[in-house]
Amino acid sequence: MNKIAIAIHGGAGQNSKFIEANYKGYMEGLKTAVEHGHELLINGASALDVVEATVRILEDNPLFNAGKGSALNSEGMVEMDAAIMDGHLLAAGAVSMVTQVKNPISLARKVMSNTKHVHIAGYGALKLAELNSLELMPNDYFIVERQINELKEEKSYGHGTVGCVALDSRGNMASATSTGGLSNSLPGRVGDSCMIGAGCYANAHCASSCTGDGELIIINVIAHKVAALLELKGMPLQEACDYVIRNLENPINGDVGMISVDVNGNIGFSFNCDRMHRASIDHTGELVVDIYQTGHSMK
Ligand code: ASP
Repeated sequence: MNKIAIAIHGGAGQNSKFIEANYKGYMEGLKTAVEHGHELLINGASALDVVEATVRILEDNPLFNAGKGSALNSEGMVEMDAAIMDGHLLAAGAVSMVTQVKNPISLARKVMSNTKHVHIAGYGALKLAELNSLELMPNDYFIVERQINELKEEKSYGHGTVGCVALDSRGNMASATSTGGLSNSLPGRVGDSCMIGAGCYANAHCASSCTGDGELIIINVIAHKVAALLELKGMPLQEACDYVIRNLENPINGDVGMISVDVNGNIGFSFNCDRMHRASIDHTGELVVDIYQTGHSMK
């Protein structure tokens, strides 16, 4: 069989007591999701189907900041963003300011496959979900105690955005990213996760998904920059990921992380903060599940 590979992330940012207390749950959640996606790839599923299915699992897991468990904005409401991109077709779909939709990543896929647009926001996104009979949930389904506390404390450890990149047996790559955004944001704030080229990008060179402070990711157009370094400079994937994260062009100090896969089934990841929840199975079949920087004592 041709090479296959998959990587996921469950957010990057500062460490927190909640993350330490739920270390096992996070590790299990990451492992289950990445193994499920890998199994689909073994069975011949397309990279696009795999990234959607894998992100749905993470959206349903309340430990992560996407779907159920999403961050709350300054009015205590959930507004979700998601994007998906097929690197072979160079087709993409994205949604922002989404409410009620259980799995925003599937709505992003509908934008890609069922409309002539790339990005649909707000009430139009909800209308599209209804039109396509996607599952809707009452607003309180998405809200979990951890996020209520973060909003009260005016802290954002949130950073539990989820993403998946995959290489399928036909040599095609895809990327998907989904998030509840940053805690205590102004209503209507849209982050990088749903912005093609910033928090999500795939082409014939690689597929990438990002997490962290969205404003910084948008300004640096990170996911596309990695693809450009591969294409124009011939950089190896890991070197390109490290280069982009270490050379963030911006005065704002922020937390940023990313995962990436290339056409040879190599996995790249890089982050500039305490932790990035992540898991991968590369072309050799090696499984890696980790949260902290290598060498962190919790391991
Ligand atoms: N990047 C996301 C955003 O800014 C948040 C995150 O990755 O946790 O909306």
